[in-house]
Amino acid sequence: MTLKGKTAVVTGSSSGIGHGIALALAEQGANVMLNGFGDSPETIEQLKAEFTALGVGVDYSPADVGNPTQVEDMIKTAASKFGSVDILINNAGIQFVAPIEAFPVEKWNAVIATNLSSVFYSTRVAAPLMKAKGWGRIINTASAHGLVASVQKAAYVSAKHGVVGLTKVTGLELAGTGVTCNAICPGWVLTPLVQKQIDAIAAREGLSNQEASVKLLEEKQPSKQFVTPEQIGKLVLFLCSDGADQITGSAYSIDGGWVAR
Ligand code: NAD
Repeated sequence: MTLKGKTAVVTGSSSGIGHGIALALAEQGANVMLNGFGDSPETIEQLKAEFTALGVGVDYSPADVGNPTQVEDMIKTAASKFGSVDILINNAGIQFVAPIEAFPVEKWNAVIATNLSSVFYSTRVAAPLMKAKGWGRIINTASAHGLVASVQKAAYVSAKHGVVGLTKVTGLELAGTGVTCNAICPGWVLTPLVQKQIDAIAAREGLSNQEASVKLLEEKQPSKQFVTPEQIGKLVLFLCSDGADQITGSAYSIDGGWVAR
């Protein structure tokens, strides 16, 4: 397949899963609007250079996805720079772990804004652009936690279930327009977001990094192997292909069997 001439906005593409998805799209020729925070201006320059080397158009937006004005500006900047937004990957996300009675209200609000409201903010701006062209793909990184729950993740599980619901509504509203909307529901992927949870297990139980990783995997993921950002990139490419024209409003598990049990 080729995505030459198409433009993708990938939120949270400075790290982890979003980076893997953006690379998969750029390797097929798509221009990319990168987004997400970096440790320094130099890391963002390195990120842009990595994509420029693939011979595609590249831009970077520092938009906070929880801010509707900044999100609108990011989408409109991509459209004016590259001529369109054809693919929208809503991927940026954060985690916070605590029991409900100790869950700080400001952490709840931050997780809901970054992981759920962000998807609404970008979809409402990008969908009309895609509809006008009669083709588009909106792909939301939900989670296994969009389908089942775990303790101590009230905001994350609520946000990700919300993303799966919003994906269904978007799929229905856009059905027949040439624009599809689907969610991807990964299990454990070894990214900085998950490494923090491994570090917490290691510290709490006096385990090595390796032992804590095995413990994390064993609890939820029957394959006992991490999903990789590259594998998620390949699923995104399938959902962008002609073969996926009639797939919309769906939630795709890629989780080593997590939600099967
Ligand atoms: P990560 O921490 O490696 O990357 C998160 C990205 O989001 C970074 O680029 C970060 O800068 C960006 N980001 C965070 N807050 C932002 C904000 N307010 N505005 C703009 N960008 C922001 O994490 P990851 O594991 O790659 O997670 C990516 C997505 O995948 C998240 O939505 C996460 O919930 C989801 N997910 C991750 C896993 C996993 O096991 N890692 C599993 C299921 C779902």
